[in-house]
Amino acid sequence: MTRSAPDSCPGVLRLHEAADGPLARIRLPGGRLRPDQLLALAEAARDLGDGGIELTSRGNVQLRRIGDAGALADRLGAADLLPSRTHERVRNIVASPLSGRLGGLADVRDLIPRLDDALRAAPALAELPGRVLFTLDDGRGDVSGLGGDFGIHAVSADDYALLLGGRDSGIRVPHAQTVEVLLAAAHEFQGLRGERWRLHEIPDGLARIVAALGVEPADDLLESPAPQDIPIGWCTQDDGLVSLGAGVRLGALPGRTAEFLAAVDRPVVVTPWRSLVLSDLDEWTAEQVVRVLAPMGLIFDAASPWLLVTACAGRPGCAKSRTDVRADAAEAVTEGRISPNGTPRPGHDLAASEITVPGRQHWSGCERRCGRPRGDVTDVVAEPAGYRVTLPSRA
Ligand code: SF4
Repeated sequence: MTRSAPDSCPGVLRLHEAADGPLARIRLPGGRLRPDQLLALAEAARDLGDGGIELTSRGNVQLRRIGDAGALADRLGAADLLPSRTHERVRNIVASPLSGRLGGLADVRDLIPRLDDALRAAPALAELPGRVLFTLDDGRGDVSGLGGDFGIHAVSADDYALLLGGRDSGIRVPHAQTVEVLLAAAHEFQGLRGERWRLHEIPDGLARIVAALGVEPADDLLESPAPQDIPIGWCTQDDGLVSLGAGVRLGALPGRTAEFLAAVDRPVVVTPWRSLVLSDLDEWTAEQVVRVLAPMGLIFDAASPWLLVTACAGRPGCAKSRTDVRADAAEAVTEGRISPNGTPRPGHDLAASEITVPGRQHWSGCERRCGRPRGDVTDVVAEPAGYRVTLPSRA
């Protein structure tokens, strides 16, 4: 596959001209945010954007309707959210959100800044396409199935499988060498890719990179799952403190809610499932957070139907959209038409009010289905005469 159009992924220094105004995407390696950075984002959204913060499927965030791009870059730079002007769009790194706090085989937290630093120090990698994704999975299998280009997946406390194009390459590396090997693979990709944006688009890309790395692969390969493994609610950490997983309705975090979260003064992770993890809380504080923020719309109940539904930007943000899909999806949830169990039925030319879909589902304003999660997801797509519901097996 070759591309006729240049890579146009938005960033902070290159905004996307959305139908409702300029849009900025801010990379957050590992989804990690200090409280002061979350507050800076909330204030920037309030003062320079539409007031909200959108969470993306790569654990990044977006601000819409940016009125002063220069002022935004200045503010984000002051908050350490724009550490590179040359590499800002290639810092797409997702990592297991709970790593080092509970579960997993290894602790990948230190690898996030190390990989970010190494990426930014490599001049040739400034030209990586903005769609390239790095995944750091601590062995629990939550992010290896997200379709990354270059990843590591812990197979023990100190050993990792190198994933290429989301598949196990057979190469095994110790913790200390993971960043070096990921960078070497990314450099090889740059040499091979031509106009291609993703590793899986290169014929025999995995085998060619393995050969170029000159490492003998193992025969015993891992399967890469695509689990829907959203940490929601109360999670007791190994050290006795608490992490709270919070779902965010359709990934739209109101700036005011973000300000409350920042005031808790604990580390925040934006997950690739458009949710948040607030960590290192004592029990009393965790209870107060739930008591205050649940009424503001954050979801701490893993059975909430909101967690089943994702949606593209739709109208008014996207000119291609046939309708306001987010409003239609939200109405379906609030009217009780989304349930966890049941058998979805296909249909077409449906009014929004007729749609009753069980299970995971993605609503789109056109056939492109932007932001669709991986795995078994029912598609609800706006067509000229109404919505079409397509079963997961046909997606
Ligand atoms: S799926 Fe279509 S309508 Fe939705 S954001 Fe993508 S291009 Fe726009």
